[in-house]
Parts: sequence; structure tokens; C-alpha cells
Amino acid sequence: MAAQQVQGGFQELYGAAPEGVWSAPGRVNLIGEHTDYNDGFVMPFALPHTTVAAVSRRTDGRLRLHSADVEGGVEELRLDELAPESDRNWTAYPAGVVWALREAGHAVTGADVHLASTVPSGAGLSSSAALEVVIALALNDLYELGLQRWQLARLCQRAENVYVGAPTGIMDQTASACCEEGHALFLDTRDLSQQQIPFDLAAEGMRLLVVDTRVKHAHSDGEYGKRRAGCERGAALLGVDALRDIPYDGLDAALARLGDDEEAVRLVRHIVTEDERVERTVALLRAGETRAIGPVLVAGHASLRDDFRISCPELDLVVDTALASGALGARMTGGGFGGSAIVLVEASDVDTVTKAVEEAFAGAGFTAPRVFEAVPSAGARRLS
Ligand code: ADP
Ligand code: MG
Repeated sequence: MAAQQVQGGFQELYGAAPEGVWSAPGRVNLIGEHTDYNDGFVMPFALPHTTVAAVSRRTDGRLRLHSADVEGGVEELRLDELAPESDRNWTAYPAGVVWALREAGHAVTGADVHLASTVPSGAGLSSSAALEVVIALALNDLYELGLQRWQLARLCQRAENVYVGAPTGIMDQTASACCEEGHALFLDTRDLSQQQIPFDLAAEGMRLLVVDTRVKHAHSDGEYGKRRAGCERGAALLGVDALRDIPYDGLDAALARLGDDEEAVRLVRHIVTEDERVERTVALLRAGETRAIGPVLVAGHASLRDDFRISCPELDLVVDTALASGALGARMTGGGFGGSAIVLVEASDVDTVTKAVEEAFAGAGFTAPRVFEAVPSAGARRLS
């Protein structure tokens, strides 16, 4: 998204140039699914798709919001009236960030905002985090709050959990705030320690495709809540704070303790093996054995499909078709029940695999998917 265009839009709406322009990216998760609310490991990288916001301060306690991507005019809110779960519109995301900052004691006295985004919304690529993080970074800079990136991510998560009312982990916001170009972010969601892992597929003759299935099955939010509660129940049954605390080499013993509680067995097995897959992926990338992560991605998909049970026919069709047409690896990514899948391919196979997936979707009578290449890109930053 071009900074100039958003800057121009701001000027037109508010009659003055903005004090600055910021951007924050969407993300895809390479591996580590549903581990982020189990204190586990995740490995997202930032997309080239960004949300760009032009922002100025105000001193009168008002927040004016406008998105080029939403029909309608400028929304005006009063900071002293912001209240959790009071807003069901898109404005809850940026307003929630302002609320979270003020709740944490930061003296934010208002803002004018105009934004536009190239992050597909509702595709599991975290347009919501991009929106939150771009606002948080802009206000952190303008009001000189001195918060670090991980702190901004925490505040954005709080905005989404408490103000918007969506129970999400910390991965999305941290990815948008902290990722670096040419790297994947190895994040420990327990202590938020992070390592930038070089991930430059183009240099090694590979590509990573994102296939947006363009479906979102209606029950997905409820199922997310059920998985989350199920994981907490599993941890309680095993007497640990979080499933992160079950070591991989202690998995069999833990499953034996769960006996014939099949639901708990499935959820615990996914989380514990998924954490191990993240660590294995990091080790392989560090060793320069990038192609060897393909089978790890495939194993991750099987675990999400069979144990965690959050895949759907569209996601399975992407993965099965991609693998049958020569992909090195593939898996669903994000919350599940729709959204996107990722496919690791040799550069020379991009067209073959893309065509095979598109034909398979047409053959199954599904909506045509949106396929694009994901280049590991920069995290949130100031543009001007
Ligand atoms: P995802 O984060 O996977 O894209 P979510 O449901 O978490 O999906 O967030 C999507 C919501 O975020 C949209 O319905 C909208 O309310 C808000 N949103 C995201 N990007 C924008 C934007 N550019 N303008 C206005 N609202 C946006
Ligand atoms: Mg989201």
C-alpha cells in the first residue's frame, strides 16, 4: 500500500497533512498452530501485504477514524466513552488499542486516522493484527510513549481480547510488530523471547505460496473457543500450567495418564507434537536443510486434520493436490475451518502446482482460490 495515497486521503478528509504515516504487515504462520495459547512455540513471518495509516494527534479527547476499505464516512469516538465490547464495527480494533494504551496509563489525548490495507481480510492472514499494530506504533511514536515492540504487541492483544472480545493468542500481533525481512520469527509465547531465523526461499530456488480458500465456515469462532477450553482442560488433568510443560519425550506417559479421554488425548498430542515440529523446523533452517521442512509441514497438517480436527474439505484439497503435483510440503495455516493454506514448492513448479490446485477447486465446485507468493517481509515501521 502506497504511503502517498494514504497521506493524500488523510489530507482530503481532515484538511491538513498527517503528522506521519506508518505501516504494519499481515502474517502467515510457517509452523506452530494453536500453540500460542498453550504457552508454546510459533514461527510466523510477515507478508508484503500491509495496512498503512496516516495519523495526527488531537488534544480534545476525540478519536476520528476512517478506512478506505469500508463504506461510510469518518467515525468519531470520545476517548472517555470507550468501553470493552461496546463496539461491533471495525472501529473497535483501533479504538481498542487507544483504550488499552490509556488503561495502561499512557497519556493519549486523541487522534485523527485514515488507513488503507492490502491484507486480505478474514483470510487468516491477520488483517486485524495489522490494523491494531499500525495504530499502536503510530501512537507510540507520536506520543513518545517509549514502548518496545513486544509491549505494543501485548497491548494490541489486550485490545483484541478485551475490547473487541475476540480470544486470540499473542502470535499475530507479535509477528506484525517484530518480524524482519528475509526472516521467520521463532517466538516463545511463554516469555515472548524471540529469534530471527533466516528464511530466504528465493535464494535457494524455492517459493512459498499462500492459497486463500476464500471460505470461512460459520462455526469457526465457537470451535476455536472449544479447542482452547479443551487444551486448558488437558493441562489441568495433567497438572501443568500449560501444555507447553509436557516435554515431547514425556508425551506417551502423559497420554497414558489421560486413558480413554479421547478428546483430551487428541488435543494434547497435537500441541506437544506441534511444539516439537517448530523446534525441528528451526533446527533444519539453521542447518541449511530448508527442503527438509516439507515433510514437517505435512505432518503438521495431518495433526491439525486428524487430532485437532480443524481442517475442512477446501484446506485438505489444497494440501493433497499440491503434494500430488510435486510440492515439497503443504499445510493449513491459521485458525482453521477455512482461511489459507501454505505450499512450499521448487520455483520451477509454481505454475504446475498453482494450476493443479485451481483445477481441483473448479472440479470440486468450490469458489476459485486466491493464490499468491509470500515473501518474508518487514514488520511494522514508520514510512514518513
Ligand atoms: P483476519 O485477522 O484473519 O483478517 P479477523 O476477523 O480477525 O480476520 O479481522 C478482520 C476484521 O478486522 C474485519 O472484519 C474488520 O473489522 C477489521 N479490519 C481489518 N482490516 C481492516 C481495514 N483495512 N479497514 C477496516 N477494518 C479492517
Ligand atoms: Mg484476526
